[in-house]
Parts: sequence; C-alpha cells; structure tokens
Amino acid sequence: PAQLQTEQLSVTYSNGHQALQPNSLAFAQGEFVVLLGASGAGKSTLLRCLNGLVKPSQGKVLSSACGDIATAEARRAHRRQTGMIFQQHHLIGRLSVLDNVLLGRIGYHNSWRTLLPWSKDEKRMALAAIDRVGLLDYALQRADQLSGGQQQRVGVARALIQQPSILLADEPVASLDPATAEQLLTLIHSICKSDGLTAIVSLHQVNFARRFADRIVGLRSGAVVFDGLPGALTEAA
Ligand code: ADP
Ligand code: ADP
Repeated sequence: PAQLQTEQLSVTYSNGHQALQPNSLAFAQGEFVVLLGASGAGKSTLLRCLNGLVKPSQGKVLSSACGDIATAEARRAHRRQTGMIFQQHHLIGRLSVLDNVLLGRIGYHNSWRTLLPWSKDEKRMALAAIDRVGLLDYALQRADQLSGGQQQRVGVARALIQQPSILLADEPVASLDPATAEQLLTLIHSICKSDGLTAIVSLHQVNFARRFADRIVGLRSGAVVFDGLPGALTEAA
C-alpha cells in the first residue's frame, strides 16, 4: 500500500518555468527510493511538494494517514510524521548539537513561545537521536565546531527526533567528499531500514543510487524518465 503518492502532480513556478511535469508516483511503506537526476531536474521541487512546502500547480499529494495535504490541518499532521534532511543542514552554529536537534520538535508546537523550556522527555528523545547518529560525545558542543559530515549527522538526528514514518532527504550528501558521503548514506539507509521508514532521497550520483535504492525514480527536465529497480537503470535514464 502506498504511504505517500502524487496524482497528476505538476509545478509551474510564478516565472512561468515548469519545474515538474505531471507525474503520478506511489511510495510504498518501508521503501527506500532514490530520486536521481542532474541539477535542475526537479528533485527539490518534488520533495518540497511531498512535504507541502511547494503548492502544486495541478494535481495533489496524498498521504495514507492524512489524506490530501491541500488543507493546512492535513499538512500539519503530515509534517509531524515526516522528517526532512537538507543539503545545507541549516543548523544554528552557535547552538549546541542538543539544542539544534531539539529544534526538530518545532513541528509539534504552534509558536516559539511554547517551545521553552524543553521537557525532560524531549531532551531524552533528542539524546537518543544523537546517540543513533554516533554523536553523543558531542551533544553539548556548538554545532559550528563539528566537521561537515558530523553536521549532516546532526541534521539526521534532528529529522529523527519526531520519530517520523517518512523521511525526505534533499541531496543530503552533495556537500560531502565521497567517503564521508558514503558513510552518511550508509547511516541513513540503516536507520530507515531498522525503523521501517519510507525514505525518499534525492541524489545526483548514479553509483550511490544503484547501491542504496530499493527503487530509482529518474528525473530529467521535470519529467519522470525512469521508475524501476536499480538493476534496470540504463544509461538512457
Ligand atoms: P533539482 O533539485 O533537481 O536541482 P529543482 O527542483 O531545484 O531541481 O529545480 C527545477 C527547476 O526549477 C530548475 O530549472 C530551477 O531553476 C527551477 N526553479 C526552482 N525553484 C524555482 C523558483 N522558486 N522559481 C522559479 N524557478 C525555480
Ligand atoms: P501553512 O502554514 O498554511 O501550512 P505553508 O507555507 O506550509 O503554509 O504552505 C504554503 C502554501 O502552499 C499554502 O498556502 C498552502 O495552501 C499551499 N500548499 C502546500 N501544499 C499544498 C498541496 N499539496 N495542495 C494544495 N495547496 C498546498
């Protein structure tokens, strides 16, 4: 059963550029899907639609738990079950690793005022997430004192703190060297598999897509040009 799907989804930005051509994609529960495509292919736009950050020009995004995410209420519920990881981790450098991870709880609150102070329970959840990405010894260090690869792992912990059932990652390894990129993807993949998360991860490296994906969705100029098993990926896609 699809946990998340698009139905005739397309996006044309206000400058008239069609970033996504109509697509209908279904993402099954527990599946690790790689969105593969060059820069400008539409990967980010698709991921942003899947989280309700970009409004489709046509079509819709359906969550099995929340329905059509067109309403603010459904979007809120959907975001609560969805973790996001970005290329630029968007950490706050002068805050500790722990505080950055706690910021992943924002989706649960209606305003900044209700954020403070963090409860013991929230801190326990944050430390558990930090432990899972191997950074427990760094929990009280400032985020800007960590290496690029460690900072991305903080981003993973921040996405995990809300114990999501869906993980969306937009080029999570684009700014890392190949060895660090492989380590991070290995970590994300193993967490998704052990927690049974539905993962949709955009990448531009074919070798990583082949290695980690259960299924590859290839995008080019906003169109889905491939959707299948990694072994079936041809040069044409
Ligand atoms: P990718 O993530 O694969 O690099 P994007 O989804 O970011 O692709 O972009 C797809 C296309 O849409 C690109 O041509 C990009 O320049 C364009 N685009 C992205 N965001 C906007 C925007 N806010 N306004 C207009 N065009 C945009
Ligand atoms: P909100 O605080 O209402 O969630 P957002 O910044 O998340 O606002 O959403 C931006 C806009 O995009 C909103 O006006 C919302 O109506 C629209 N939007 C986002 N996703 C969808 C969707 N799947 N279908 C229809 N509208 C959407």
